[in-house]
This record gives sequence, structure tokens and C-alpha cells, in this order.
Amino acid sequence: MDCPACGKSMIEESFGDVQVDVCKSGCKGIWFDWGELKELDESYEGVGKAIEEALKSPRVNDDERGPLNCPKCGIAMHAHKYSNAKEVNVDECYGCGGFFLDSGELKVIRENYMSESERDTYVQKLVADTPLGADAERANIRAEACQKIGGLLSRRWPFIWP
Ligand SMILES: [Zn+2]
Ligand SMILES: [Zn+2]
Repeated sequence: MDCPACGKSMIEESFGDVQVDVCKSGCKGIWFDWGELKELDESYEGVGKAIEEALKSPRVNDDERGPLNCPKCGIAMHAHKYSNAKEVNVDECYGCGGFFLDSGELKVIRENYMSESERDTYVQKLVADTPLGADAERANIRAEACQKIGGLLSRRWPFIWP
């Protein structure tokens, strides 16, 4: 699978029961499949390592960048844009439910550790910003996935950068 941000080939890495695709040779972005997000457990240390690796790469995205295309479906992904500097923009595919986090976004997380309440606000916005309202079951699964990614984005940092 090619990286949606830089086009380099992504490598699958296993973290416990979960496999994520990492852009090792390029921008260090990380792709989470819909199913991967569902199975993601915050306790997997390996995910932290992948994210740590991502931080070594300079920011590649900028505000002028157009929507990324999903590496799985090829359709334009939805970029969640937030006003708070501590809130990370993620690109989400409404077709397959995958999430892409790129290295620049991960750097922002590192520099702006979210408190518990900020994390909740962030996750609520992520969950609310959905086109799946009519499909209750799918919306619920998505909300759960958003909780997990929100938890992953904030709770891990004290362990990686004490
Ligand atoms: Zn890349
Ligand atoms: Zn997709």
C-alpha cells in the first residue's frame, strides 16, 4: 500500500494483535485500518514506538495541502480540522473507515500534551464530526474507534516522554 501523503510504499508492523501500516521509508505517517482501530489496545507499547519513529521526521503536511486520497479506496479523505493547537488533525476515509496520522501531526501532539479534559473535548469533536448519523450501528463502532485513537494520542505520551 502506498502512503497517501508522500506516495512511498508503507510497511506493515504488528503490535500485539494489531497491524498498522507505517511509512518507514518516507514521511513516517501511520495508517490505521477500520478493523485495526477497533482492535487497538492502548497498552500496546509497540504503537508508541511507531509514533516515536514518526516524530523523527519533519512535518510534511501544510494547510495548503489538498485532501489526501485513501490508500485503500482511492477516494478523497475527510480532514478533521480543529482550531485548538492541541487538537490534532486526522484524515479519515468515510468509505472504509481508515485513519491516517502524518508525522507533522504527531509532532504537534508531542509538543502539546493534552490533559484529560482536553482529550475528552478532542474525542467528542472527532466523534461528533461524522456523516454516519443515520447508520446508528456503524456510527457507534466509529465512536468507539475515535475513543481509542483519542486515548492513544494523549495517554501514551507520558510513558514515551516522561
Ligand atoms: Zn509517507
Ligand atoms: Zn478508504
